[in-house]
Amino acid sequence: HYDVVIVGGGHAGAQAAIALRQEKFAGTIAIIGAEPELPYERPPLSKDYLSGDKVFDRLLIRPATFWAERDIAFILGERVVKVDATARTLNTDTGRQVGYGELIWATGGEPRRLSCDGHHLRGVHAIRTRADVDRLLGELSHAERIVVIGGGYIGLEAASALVKFGKAVTLVETLDRVLARVAGEALSRFYEQEHRAHGVRLLLASGVSCIEGDDSVRGVRLADDEILPADIVIVGIGIIPAIEPLAEAGAEVGNGVMVDAQCRTSLPHIYAIGDCAAHANRFASGGVIRLESVQNANDQAVVAARTIVGREASYDAVPWFWSNQYDLKLQTVGLSTGFDTAVLRGDPASRAFSVVYLRDGRVIAIDAVNAVKDYVQGRALVSNGVEASPADIADTTRPLKDLG
Ligand code: FAD
Repeated sequence: HYDVVIVGGGHAGAQAAIALRQEKFAGTIAIIGAEPELPYERPPLSKDYLSGDKVFDRLLIRPATFWAERDIAFILGERVVKVDATARTLNTDTGRQVGYGELIWATGGEPRRLSCDGHHLRGVHAIRTRADVDRLLGELSHAERIVVIGGGYIGLEAASALVKFGKAVTLVETLDRVLARVAGEALSRFYEQEHRAHGVRLLLASGVSCIEGDDSVRGVRLADDEILPADIVIVGIGIIPAIEPLAEAGAEVGNGVMVDAQCRTSLPHIYAIGDCAAHANRFASGGVIRLESVQNANDQAVVAARTIVGREASYDAVPWFWSNQYDLKLQTVGLSTGFDTAVLRGDPASRAFSVVYLRDGRVIAIDAVNAVKDYVQGRALVSNGVEASPADIADTTRPLKDLG
Protein backbone atom coordinates (compact mmCIF):
# COMPACT_ATOMS: atom_id res chain seq x y z
CA HIS A 1 0.00 0.00 0.00
CA TYR A 2 1.13 3.52 -0.83
CA ASP A 3 -0.58 6.80 0.03
CA VAL A 4 -0.19 7.88 -3.59
CA VAL A 5 0.32 5.50 -6.48
CA ILE A 6 1.24 7.01 -9.83
CA VAL A 7 0.67 4.77 -12.84
CA GLY A 8 3.04 5.69 -15.67
CA GLY A 9 6.62 6.89 -15.25
CA GLY A 10 6.74 9.43 -18.07
CA HIS A 11 6.72 13.23 -17.97
CA ALA A 12 3.41 13.56 -16.16
CA GLY A 13 4.01 10.80 -13.62
CA ALA A 14 7.51 12.01 -12.77
CA GLN A 15 6.38 15.60 -12.39
CA ALA A 16 3.47 14.57 -10.17
CA ALA A 17 5.86 12.86 -7.73
CA ILE A 18 8.24 15.84 -7.82
CA ALA A 19 5.36 18.27 -7.21
CA LEU A 20 3.97 16.22 -4.31
CA ARG A 21 7.31 16.42 -2.50
CA GLN A 22 7.63 20.12 -3.36
CA GLU A 23 4.22 20.58 -1.75
CA LYS A 24 5.66 18.85 1.36
CA PHE A 25 3.54 15.75 0.94
CA ALA A 26 4.94 13.40 3.59
CA GLY A 27 3.11 10.18 2.70
CA THR A 28 4.44 7.24 0.73
CA ILE A 29 4.64 7.53 -3.08
CA ALA A 30 5.20 4.83 -5.69
CA ILE A 31 5.45 5.10 -9.45
CA ILE A 32 4.47 1.98 -11.41
CA GLY A 33 5.81 2.13 -14.95
CA ALA A 34 5.62 -0.30 -17.85
CA GLU A 35 9.00 0.77 -19.24
CA PRO A 36 12.17 -0.47 -17.50
CA GLU A 37 13.82 2.98 -17.35
CA LEU A 38 13.54 5.72 -14.77
CA PRO A 39 11.50 8.66 -16.13
CA TYR A 40 13.14 10.19 -19.19
CA GLU A 41 12.37 12.95 -21.67
CA ARG A 42 10.47 11.73 -24.69
CA PRO A 43 10.91 14.67 -27.13
CA PRO A 44 14.60 13.87 -27.89
CA LEU A 45 13.59 10.40 -29.12
CA SER A 46 12.79 11.87 -32.54
CA LYS A 47 15.46 14.58 -32.26
CA ASP A 48 18.88 14.45 -30.53
CA TYR A 49 18.64 10.84 -29.39
CA LEU A 50 17.71 9.55 -32.83
CA SER A 51 20.45 11.62 -34.47
CA GLY A 52 23.01 10.37 -31.93
CA ASP A 53 23.69 13.85 -30.52
CA LYS A 54 22.52 12.93 -27.00
CA VAL A 55 23.18 9.76 -25.04
CA PHE A 56 20.38 8.20 -23.00
CA ASP A 57 21.69 9.27 -19.58
CA ARG A 58 21.21 12.88 -20.57
CA LEU A 59 17.53 12.20 -21.18
CA LEU A 60 16.75 11.23 -17.58
CA ILE A 61 14.31 13.69 -16.03
CA ARG A 62 16.17 13.35 -12.70
CA PRO A 63 19.16 11.20 -11.67
CA ALA A 64 18.48 8.03 -9.64
CA THR A 65 19.72 9.71 -6.45
CA PHE A 66 17.00 12.38 -6.69
CA TRP A 67 14.21 9.84 -6.37
CA ALA A 68 15.93 7.92 -3.58
CA GLU A 69 16.53 11.09 -1.55
CA ARG A 70 12.84 11.95 -1.76
CA ASP A 71 11.71 8.46 -0.93
CA ILE A 72 9.84 7.94 -4.19
CA ALA A 73 9.55 4.21 -4.88
CA PHE A 74 9.53 2.66 -8.36
CA ILE A 75 7.96 -0.54 -9.62
CA LEU A 76 9.28 -0.68 -13.18
CA GLY A 77 8.69 -3.06 -16.06
CA GLU A 78 5.15 -3.82 -14.88
CA ARG A 79 1.91 -2.75 -16.47
CA VAL A 80 -1.22 -2.02 -14.48
CA VAL A 81 -4.02 -4.11 -15.96
CA LYS A 82 -6.84 -3.70 -13.44
CA VAL A 83 -8.11 -1.02 -11.10
CA ASP A 84 -10.69 -1.55 -8.37
CA ALA A 85 -11.91 1.90 -7.45
CA THR A 86 -14.01 0.64 -4.53
CA ALA A 87 -11.35 -1.48 -2.82
CA ARG A 88 -8.70 1.07 -3.91
CA THR A 89 -6.37 -1.58 -5.28
CA LEU A 90 -4.73 -2.24 -8.60
CA ASN A 91 -3.12 -5.23 -10.23
CA THR A 92 -0.15 -5.43 -12.55
CA ASP A 93 0.56 -7.92 -15.30
CA THR A 94 2.91 -9.84 -12.99
CA GLY A 95 0.07 -10.55 -10.57
CA ARG A 96 1.20 -7.96 -8.03
CA GLN A 97 -1.56 -6.19 -6.12
CA VAL A 98 -0.98 -2.69 -4.76
CA GLY A 99 -3.32 -0.66 -2.54
CA TYR A 100 -3.57 3.12 -2.86
CA GLY A 101 -4.93 6.11 -1.01
CA GLU A 102 -4.95 8.35 -4.09
CA LEU A 103 -4.26 7.17 -7.64
CA ILE A 104 -2.76 9.31 -10.39
CA TRP A 105 -3.20 7.81 -13.85
CA ALA A 106 -0.41 9.09 -16.13
CA THR A 107 -0.10 6.45 -18.82
CA GLY A 108 0.23 8.51 -22.00
CA GLY A 109 -0.68 6.49 -25.07
CA GLU A 110 0.29 3.69 -27.40
CA PRO A 111 1.35 4.52 -30.95
CA ARG A 112 -1.50 4.01 -33.38
CA ARG A 113 -0.62 1.14 -35.73
CA LEU A 114 -1.43 0.84 -39.39
CA SER A 115 -4.43 -1.38 -39.92
CA CYS A 116 -3.29 -2.63 -43.31
CA ASP A 117 -1.52 -5.89 -44.20
CA GLY A 118 2.14 -6.08 -43.24
CA HIS A 119 1.95 -3.60 -40.36
CA HIS A 120 3.65 -6.11 -38.04
CA LEU A 121 6.64 -6.96 -40.30
CA ARG A 122 10.18 -6.66 -39.00
CA GLY A 123 11.53 -3.23 -39.91
CA VAL A 124 8.27 -1.39 -39.19
CA HIS A 125 8.80 0.98 -36.27
CA ALA A 126 7.02 3.46 -34.07
CA ILE A 127 8.84 6.17 -32.12
CA ARG A 128 7.37 6.37 -28.64
CA THR A 129 9.86 4.75 -26.27
CA ARG A 130 13.59 4.43 -25.85
CA ALA A 131 13.24 0.74 -26.76
CA ASP A 132 11.53 1.71 -30.04
CA VAL A 133 14.40 3.99 -31.00
CA ASP A 134 17.12 1.55 -29.90
CA ARG A 135 15.51 -1.11 -32.08
CA LEU A 136 15.38 1.32 -34.99
CA LEU A 137 19.00 2.43 -34.50
CA GLY A 138 20.04 -1.22 -34.40
CA GLU A 139 18.72 -1.73 -37.92
CA LEU A 140 19.92 1.56 -39.34
CA SER A 141 23.39 0.56 -40.47
CA HIS A 142 21.90 -2.05 -42.83
CA ALA A 143 19.23 0.29 -44.16
CA GLU A 144 19.44 2.61 -47.11
CA ARG A 145 15.82 3.38 -47.91
CA ILE A 146 13.48 4.65 -45.23
CA VAL A 147 9.80 5.41 -45.62
CA VAL A 148 8.16 7.58 -42.98
CA ILE A 149 4.38 7.32 -42.82
CA GLY A 150 2.74 10.41 -41.33
CA GLY A 151 3.58 14.09 -41.78
CA GLY A 152 3.06 15.20 -38.18
CA TYR A 153 5.81 16.50 -35.92
CA ILE A 154 7.28 13.10 -35.07
CA GLY A 155 7.41 11.93 -38.70
CA LEU A 156 8.97 15.19 -39.84
CA GLU A 157 11.54 15.21 -37.03
CA ALA A 158 12.47 11.62 -37.78
CA ALA A 159 12.86 12.42 -41.47
CA SER A 160 15.13 15.36 -40.68
CA ALA A 161 17.31 13.27 -38.34
CA LEU A 162 17.60 10.33 -40.75
CA VAL A 163 18.30 12.28 -43.92
CA LYS A 164 21.35 13.64 -42.05
CA PHE A 165 22.69 10.07 -41.94
CA GLY A 166 22.61 10.09 -45.73
CA LYS A 167 19.61 7.76 -45.95
CA ALA A 168 17.12 8.00 -48.80
CA VAL A 169 14.01 9.18 -46.97
CA THR A 170 10.49 9.29 -48.40
CA LEU A 171 7.67 10.71 -46.31
CA VAL A 172 4.09 9.77 -47.11
CA GLU A 173 1.16 11.84 -45.85
CA THR A 174 -2.52 11.10 -46.52
CA LEU A 175 -3.63 14.72 -46.39
CA ASP A 176 -2.57 17.30 -48.95
CA ARG A 177 -0.12 19.03 -46.61
CA VAL A 178 2.09 18.19 -43.66
CA LEU A 179 1.12 19.35 -40.14
CA ALA A 180 -2.43 19.74 -41.43
CA ARG A 181 -4.05 19.05 -38.07
CA VAL A 182 -1.94 21.46 -36.05
CA ALA A 183 -0.85 24.39 -38.22
CA GLY A 184 -1.98 26.74 -40.98
CA GLU A 185 -1.04 26.31 -44.60
CA ALA A 186 1.86 28.81 -44.61
CA LEU A 187 3.72 26.78 -42.00
CA SER A 188 2.97 23.49 -43.76
CA ARG A 189 4.26 24.79 -47.09
CA PHE A 190 7.39 26.20 -45.45
CA TYR A 191 8.26 22.86 -43.84
CA GLU A 192 7.49 20.94 -47.03
CA GLN A 193 9.94 23.13 -48.92
CA GLU A 194 12.61 22.72 -46.24
CA HIS A 195 12.31 18.94 -46.28
CA ARG A 196 12.48 18.81 -50.05
CA ALA A 197 15.50 21.11 -50.05
CA HIS A 198 17.23 18.71 -47.63
CA GLY A 199 16.56 15.77 -49.95
CA VAL A 200 13.43 14.20 -48.45
CA ARG A 201 10.98 12.93 -51.05
CA LEU A 202 7.53 14.10 -49.93
CA LEU A 203 4.40 12.39 -51.17
CA LEU A 204 1.30 14.31 -50.15
CA ALA A 205 -2.31 13.18 -50.54
CA SER A 206 -0.98 9.63 -50.73
CA GLY A 207 -2.67 6.75 -48.98
CA VAL A 208 -0.85 3.58 -47.91
CA SER A 209 -2.46 0.37 -49.11
CA CYS A 210 -0.14 -2.16 -47.42
CA ILE A 211 3.36 -2.95 -46.24
CA GLU A 212 5.09 -5.45 -48.52
CA GLY A 213 7.50 -8.12 -47.34
CA ASP A 214 7.69 -11.70 -46.09
CA ASP A 215 9.40 -11.61 -42.75
CA SER A 216 11.01 -8.19 -43.02
CA VAL A 217 9.62 -5.16 -44.76
CA ARG A 218 10.51 -4.75 -48.44
CA GLY A 219 8.39 -1.81 -49.38
CA VAL A 220 5.29 0.29 -48.96
CA ARG A 221 2.50 -0.06 -51.50
CA LEU A 222 0.57 3.16 -52.00
CA ALA A 223 -3.11 3.45 -52.84
CA ASP A 224 -2.19 4.23 -56.47
CA ASP A 225 -0.17 0.93 -56.51
CA GLU A 226 3.24 2.59 -56.63
CA ILE A 227 5.64 0.57 -54.47
CA LEU A 228 8.20 2.48 -52.44
CA PRO A 229 11.13 0.14 -51.73
CA ALA A 230 12.00 0.32 -48.03
CA ASP A 231 14.40 -1.29 -45.57
CA ILE A 232 12.81 0.54 -42.66
CA VAL A 233 9.32 2.01 -42.24
CA ILE A 234 8.57 4.49 -39.50
CA VAL A 235 4.93 4.98 -38.60
CA GLY A 236 4.02 8.29 -36.97
CA ILE A 237 0.25 8.49 -37.12
CA GLY A 238 -0.66 9.46 -33.59
CA ILE A 239 -1.40 7.70 -30.33
CA ILE A 240 -4.29 5.98 -28.65
CA PRO A 241 -4.62 6.97 -24.97
CA ALA A 242 -3.79 4.07 -22.62
CA ILE A 243 -6.94 4.11 -20.52
CA GLU A 244 -8.46 0.64 -20.73
CA PRO A 245 -8.11 -0.39 -17.05
CA LEU A 246 -9.67 2.90 -15.96
CA ALA A 247 -12.49 2.62 -18.47
CA GLU A 248 -13.16 -0.92 -17.25
CA ALA A 249 -13.19 0.37 -13.67
CA GLY A 250 -16.04 2.68 -14.72
CA ALA A 251 -14.31 6.01 -15.33
CA GLU A 252 -15.97 8.37 -17.76
CA VAL A 253 -13.96 8.30 -20.97
CA GLY A 254 -14.07 9.95 -24.38
CA ASN A 255 -10.96 10.70 -26.38
CA GLY A 256 -9.01 10.03 -23.17
CA VAL A 257 -10.09 9.88 -19.52
CA MET A 258 -12.38 12.78 -18.74
CA VAL A 259 -11.02 15.01 -15.96
CA ASP A 260 -12.20 18.22 -14.30
CA ALA A 261 -10.11 21.36 -13.72
CA GLN A 262 -8.45 19.66 -10.73
CA CYS A 263 -7.56 16.62 -12.91
CA ARG A 264 -10.03 14.40 -11.05
CA THR A 265 -11.63 11.58 -13.02
CA SER A 266 -15.25 10.59 -12.40
CA LEU A 267 -13.99 7.89 -9.99
CA PRO A 268 -13.25 8.84 -6.36
CA HIS A 269 -9.56 9.28 -5.41
CA ILE A 270 -8.44 8.80 -9.03
CA TYR A 271 -6.78 11.58 -11.02
CA ALA A 272 -5.58 11.51 -14.64
CA ILE A 273 -2.91 13.74 -16.19
CA GLY A 274 -0.89 14.17 -19.36
CA ASP A 275 -1.45 12.65 -22.79
CA CYS A 276 -4.20 10.33 -21.54
CA ALA A 277 -6.42 13.04 -20.01
CA ALA A 278 -9.24 14.84 -21.84
CA HIS A 279 -10.10 18.16 -20.21
CA ALA A 280 -11.98 21.40 -20.77
CA ASN A 281 -9.49 23.95 -22.08
CA ARG A 282 -10.35 27.58 -22.77
CA PHE A 283 -7.78 27.68 -25.58
CA ALA A 284 -9.39 24.80 -27.48
CA SER A 285 -11.97 25.72 -30.11
CA GLY A 286 -13.99 22.58 -29.35
CA GLY A 287 -13.82 23.15 -25.57
CA VAL A 288 -12.69 19.67 -24.52
CA ILE A 289 -9.30 18.47 -25.72
CA ARG A 290 -6.57 15.92 -25.05
CA LEU A 291 -3.18 17.58 -25.40
CA GLU A 292 0.05 15.75 -26.16
CA SER A 293 2.79 18.02 -24.86
CA VAL A 294 5.34 18.26 -22.10
CA GLN A 295 3.76 21.52 -20.99
CA ASN A 296 0.38 19.91 -20.46
CA ALA A 297 1.87 16.86 -18.71
CA ASN A 298 3.87 19.02 -16.29
CA ASP A 299 1.15 21.56 -15.57
CA GLN A 300 -1.57 18.96 -14.99
CA ALA A 301 0.82 17.06 -12.70
CA VAL A 302 1.24 20.14 -10.52
CA VAL A 303 -2.54 20.69 -10.37
CA ALA A 304 -3.18 17.08 -9.32
CA ALA A 305 -0.42 17.20 -6.68
CA ARG A 306 -1.73 20.45 -5.20
CA THR A 307 -5.27 19.14 -5.12
CA ILE A 308 -4.10 16.02 -3.28
CA VAL A 309 -2.39 18.08 -0.59
CA GLY A 310 -5.51 20.22 -0.24
CA ARG A 311 -4.34 23.38 -1.99
CA GLU A 312 -6.52 25.33 -4.40
CA ALA A 313 -5.47 24.65 -7.97
CA SER A 314 -7.20 24.74 -11.35
CA TYR A 315 -5.71 23.85 -14.70
CA ASP A 316 -5.70 26.93 -16.94
CA ALA A 317 -2.27 26.90 -18.58
CA VAL A 318 -1.50 28.36 -22.01
CA PRO A 319 -0.60 25.45 -24.31
CA TRP A 320 2.91 25.51 -25.74
CA PHE A 321 5.03 23.14 -27.75
CA TRP A 322 8.23 23.00 -29.78
CA SER A 323 9.72 21.05 -32.66
CA ASN A 324 13.29 20.89 -33.95
CA GLN A 325 13.94 20.03 -37.57
CA TYR A 326 17.28 20.73 -39.27
CA ASP A 327 18.41 24.11 -37.89
CA LEU A 328 14.80 25.25 -37.49
CA LYS A 329 13.41 25.75 -34.01
CA LEU A 330 9.65 25.97 -34.05
CA GLN A 331 7.91 27.20 -30.92
CA THR A 332 4.15 27.33 -30.74
CA VAL A 333 1.89 28.91 -28.18
CA GLY A 334 -1.88 28.55 -28.06
CA LEU A 335 -3.96 26.24 -30.25
CA SER A 336 -4.56 27.39 -33.81
CA THR A 337 -7.38 24.97 -34.66
CA GLY A 338 -10.50 26.98 -35.44
CA PHE A 339 -8.66 30.13 -36.57
CA ASP A 340 -10.32 32.35 -39.18
CA THR A 341 -7.29 34.49 -40.12
CA ALA A 342 -3.60 33.63 -40.32
CA VAL A 343 -1.15 36.53 -40.53
CA LEU A 344 2.39 36.06 -41.74
CA ARG A 345 4.93 38.07 -39.77
CA GLY A 346 8.29 38.15 -41.51
CA ASP A 347 9.47 36.39 -44.63
CA PRO A 348 9.65 32.57 -44.63
CA ALA A 349 12.48 32.84 -47.18
CA SER A 350 14.60 34.38 -44.38
CA ARG A 351 13.93 31.19 -42.34
CA ALA A 352 12.92 33.31 -39.33
CA PHE A 353 9.25 34.28 -39.20
CA SER A 354 5.98 33.74 -37.36
CA VAL A 355 2.41 32.92 -38.18
CA VAL A 356 -0.13 34.59 -35.91
CA TYR A 357 -3.60 33.03 -35.82
CA LEU A 358 -6.75 35.03 -35.06
CA ARG A 359 -10.33 34.14 -34.36
CA ASP A 360 -12.93 36.92 -34.31
CA GLY A 361 -10.10 39.45 -34.32
CA ARG A 362 -8.36 37.99 -31.27
CA VAL A 363 -4.97 36.30 -31.17
CA ILE A 364 -5.40 32.58 -30.38
CA ALA A 365 -2.03 31.08 -31.35
CA ILE A 366 1.44 31.77 -32.72
CA ASP A 367 3.85 29.51 -34.57
CA ALA A 368 7.32 31.05 -34.35
CA VAL A 369 10.13 29.65 -36.53
CA ASN A 370 13.59 30.73 -35.39
CA ALA A 371 11.79 33.71 -33.85
CA VAL A 372 12.18 33.38 -30.10
CA LYS A 373 11.21 37.01 -29.48
CA ASP A 374 7.84 36.60 -31.16
CA TYR A 375 7.22 33.43 -29.17
CA VAL A 376 8.15 35.02 -25.84
CA GLN A 377 6.32 38.29 -26.49
CA GLY A 378 3.36 36.59 -28.14
CA ARG A 379 2.51 34.45 -25.12
CA ALA A 380 0.69 37.30 -23.40
CA LEU A 381 -1.28 38.08 -26.57
CA VAL A 382 -2.52 34.49 -26.67
CA SER A 383 -3.07 34.19 -22.94
CA ASN A 384 -5.16 37.36 -22.87
CA GLY A 385 -6.82 36.83 -26.24
CA VAL A 386 -5.70 40.31 -27.33
CA GLU A 387 -7.44 42.03 -30.25
CA ALA A 388 -4.95 43.05 -32.92
CA SER A 389 -5.19 44.11 -36.55
CA PRO A 390 -3.52 41.95 -39.22
CA ALA A 391 -1.62 45.02 -40.45
CA ASP A 392 -0.10 45.67 -37.03
CA ILE A 393 0.79 42.00 -36.57
CA ALA A 394 2.49 41.83 -39.98
CA ASP A 395 4.57 44.94 -39.25
CA THR A 396 7.88 43.44 -38.10
CA THR A 397 9.18 46.84 -37.02
CA ARG A 398 6.66 46.68 -34.15
CA PRO A 399 7.51 44.20 -31.39
CA LEU A 400 4.57 41.95 -30.53
CA LYS A 401 4.68 43.15 -26.94
CA ASP A 402 3.53 46.58 -28.13
CA LEU A 403 0.30 45.07 -29.43
CA GLY A 404 -0.81 43.95 -25.98
P1 FAD B 1 4.34 9.40 -21.42
O1 FAD B 1 5.54 10.25 -21.37
O2 FAD B 1 4.05 8.61 -22.64
O3 FAD B 1 4.46 8.38 -20.19
C1 FAD B 1 3.50 7.37 -19.97
C2 FAD B 1 4.21 6.18 -19.36
O4 FAD B 1 3.21 5.30 -18.83
C3 FAD B 1 4.99 5.36 -20.35
O5 FAD B 1 6.25 5.06 -19.85
C4 FAD B 1 4.17 4.08 -20.51
O6 FAD B 1 4.94 2.94 -20.79
C5 FAD B 1 3.54 3.97 -19.14
N1 FAD B 1 2.31 3.17 -19.11
C6 FAD B 1 1.31 3.14 -20.02
N2 FAD B 1 0.34 2.30 -19.62
C7 FAD B 1 0.73 1.80 -18.43
C8 FAD B 1 0.14 0.89 -17.53
N3 FAD B 1 -1.05 0.35 -17.74
N4 FAD B 1 0.83 0.57 -16.40
C9 FAD B 1 2.05 1.14 -16.15
N5 FAD B 1 2.64 2.01 -16.98
C10 FAD B 1 1.99 2.34 -18.10
N6 FAD B 1 6.08 17.24 -26.56
C11 FAD B 1 6.50 18.51 -26.56
O7 FAD B 1 5.98 19.33 -25.81
N7 FAD B 1 7.51 18.91 -27.39
C12 FAD B 1 8.14 18.06 -28.24
O8 FAD B 1 9.05 18.45 -28.97
C13 FAD B 1 7.71 16.69 -28.24
N8 FAD B 1 8.33 15.77 -29.04
C14 FAD B 1 7.97 14.46 -28.93
C15 FAD B 1 8.66 13.51 -29.68
C16 FAD B 1 8.33 12.16 -29.57
C17 FAD B 1 9.09 11.15 -30.36
C18 FAD B 1 7.27 11.75 -28.74
C19 FAD B 1 6.89 10.31 -28.62
C20 FAD B 1 6.57 12.70 -28.01
C21 FAD B 1 6.91 14.06 -28.09
N9 FAD B 1 6.24 15.02 -27.36
C22 FAD B 1 6.66 16.32 -27.37
C23 FAD B 1 5.08 14.67 -26.52
C24 FAD B 1 5.50 14.45 -25.09
O9 FAD B 1 6.60 13.58 -25.02
C25 FAD B 1 4.30 13.85 -24.34
O10 FAD B 1 3.27 14.80 -24.36
C26 FAD B 1 4.66 13.52 -22.91
O11 FAD B 1 5.63 12.50 -22.87
C27 FAD B 1 3.40 13.08 -22.17
O12 FAD B 1 3.73 12.63 -20.89
P2 FAD B 1 2.84 11.51 -20.20
O13 FAD B 1 3.49 11.26 -18.88
O14 FAD B 1 1.44 11.87 -20.28
O15 FAD B 1 3.02 10.22 -21.11
